[in-house]
Amino acid sequence: MADKENIEQTLSIIKPDAVGKNVIGKIIDKFESKGLKIKAMKMVQLSEKEVEEFYSVHKEKPFFKDLVEYITSGPVVAMVLEGKDAVIENRVIMGATNPKDAAPGTIRREFAESIEANAVHGSDSHENAQKEIAFFFGRREIY
Ligand code: UDP
Ligand code: MG
Repeated sequence: MADKENIEQTLSIIKPDAVGKNVIGKIIDKFESKGLKIKAMKMVQLSEKEVEEFYSVHKEKPFFKDLVEYITSGPVVAMVLEGKDAVIENRVIMGATNPKDAAPGTIRREFAESIEANAVHGSDSHENAQKEIAFFFGRREIY
């Protein structure tokens, strides 16, 4: 018997570089055309404090200060994506962190500027997805 399908949710963020390049729609199309459904969406200008909390796992990294500055440089678009194996599917659609390593057809290959300004964020595990979704959205904002 086939395993039950793993329908799950993940968090995606379209980062300020991509919002500034006017490619929100092209990025959303990548998700929808691969079968991921948008269950929540908002544009938001994050504060430094919020980004420090969201990216707290990276707070000791040499790139942390620049990362906070970059993510607060303009509004972002946060989304809840849902579908089969959504966490890993989103990571595949995004491509590697460094756009130089990202596969053809991925969001980062097509739209990222650099390893820092790399167009999108995606949760890296089911557990982090739950936490990151709750960071941006209340229960009644997810449909
Ligand atoms: N980042 C950076 N320099 C690096 C590695 C990461 O500026 O050497 C930034 C980049 O914006 C990346 C984010 O920090 O997306 C979080 O890094 P992570 O390793 O979690 O990559 P991701 O999960 O986004 O692929
Ligand atoms: Mg990450």
